[in-house]
Amino acid sequence: MKTITMKFGGTSVGGPEAISNVVEIVKTEREAGNRVIVIVSAMAGVTDNLLASVNAAVSGNKWGYLSTADKLRERHEDTLNRLVPPGKLREKTFSQITHLLNEYTEICNAVTILGENTARVSDAIVAYGERLSSRVVAAALKASGVESAAYDAGEFLLTDDRHQGATPLWDETQARVENKLKPALDQGVTPIITGFIGATQKGAITTLGRGGSDYSGAIFAAATDSDELIIWTDVDGVMTTDPRVDKRARVLPYVSYQEVGELAFYGAKVLHPKTVQPVLDKGIPIWVRNTFNPTFPGTLIRENGEPTATVIKAVTSIRNVSLLTVSGKGMIGVPGIAGRTFLATANAGASILMISQSSSEQSFCFLVTDGTAENVKDSIESELGGEIARRDIEKVDIQDDVVIITAVGAGMRGTPGVAGRVFSVMGDNRINVIAIAQGASECSISFVVAESDLERAVVKLHDLALESAAV
Ligand code: ASP
Ligand code: MG
Repeated sequence: MKTITMKFGGTSVGGPEAISNVVEIVKTEREAGNRVIVIVSAMAGVTDNLLASVNAAVSGNKWGYLSTADKLRERHEDTLNRLVPPGKLREKTFSQITHLLNEYTEICNAVTILGENTARVSDAIVAYGERLSSRVVAAALKASGVESAAYDAGEFLLTDDRHQGATPLWDETQARVENKLKPALDQGVTPIITGFIGATQKGAITTLGRGGSDYSGAIFAAATDSDELIIWTDVDGVMTTDPRVDKRARVLPYVSYQEVGELAFYGAKVLHPKTVQPVLDKGIPIWVRNTFNPTFPGTLIRENGEPTATVIKAVTSIRNVSLLTVSGKGMIGVPGIAGRTFLATANAGASILMISQSSSEQSFCFLVTDGTAENVKDSIESELGGEIARRDIEKVDIQDDVVIITAVGAGMRGTPGVAGRVFSVMGDNRINVIAIAQGASECSISFVVAESDLERAVVKLHDLALESAAV
């Protein structure tokens, strides 16, 4: 008997057809004698709807959340009607939906009256997406004969109180899983647990950040010592590149934990970047599979990915980034400029995607997401005001028509010539490289090019990845 944690994303629970596939997948596993823990996202688009309604509520727009409540009711009830026959189970689930949506409207109403929103309130509101979908999925499973029960993750997953990006309290979570979740599993129940959300020790609902239900999947897989974590999504697996940029993109059969971590960080929307960490220590393999193509094996993520001959496995790109350059002759040999710049960046609430400095020390540059660049620039200029006045630093510059391209492959480590090949390809195609960085992990090379060069850079680099796969 195996224990399998399965996470189903927004499209995988997006409507009645999708949820029927979920039911089949879970049922098959149960009939094979395995224990299954199910983590669900909100139905596709619902999280965005909820966040938009909070913003409307703050500005006094009652109509926004009232119509959202109506739409959510309709969508969940329609789905339920298609999956659960008339009777007690359907009625009971209807009343759960009504109850949750009434609470939702009450909280939004309070926000409208106060004209103010906090991260804590926003978490409480956005959590209704997963709280609703979990009830519907649990009812659909019950209707098809699988004994299951819906749970709000906060019953088990305790976190700190950093709302909208909470961190799990591992020991407390483990204890709750032992005392409350494992007994349910032992009794043959298939728990349907809300992804994305947790709770503080005092019981306030928290969220793990956008896209966080993958992370929830990994947390529950680790806490239950699962044999596998399966991320069920709407694509066949982890791809060699974004198929919208290059149609030749293929599914990778194997990827290592480290490679998938780099891919997630550098723009491939396969997995939330934190997903790997909880399962890594326990060596739990992750599968990425397609709910709408369940016979396809998908991608297996584990300790050692299969190295390929020319070592570049996948190519990703990140748009909507800005390049900040701090330059000046007076920086040479002066310690602390970079440190203060990065602190100023953090104080502006931005995180850094990539850093590069040449050894002449006359300038260094780094990348942040577009929306944060102006604030970062202001923050740096005030931090380095003295140096700027003395002309030790000439300027802080923003360039926003750039993108980051990343080539990923663990086989790069210790393989000479990979960077050479990457940049020869850029040179041969007359693509100007603005900045370069390679992490010490040597699992990826990232560089910055003009936005207008994105497609060509990805396609040409993808040639290298396909070449290696063909060998
Ligand atoms: N529903 C949440 C979101 O859209 C979490 C998730 O689906 O992973 O961000
Ligand atoms: Mg996702």
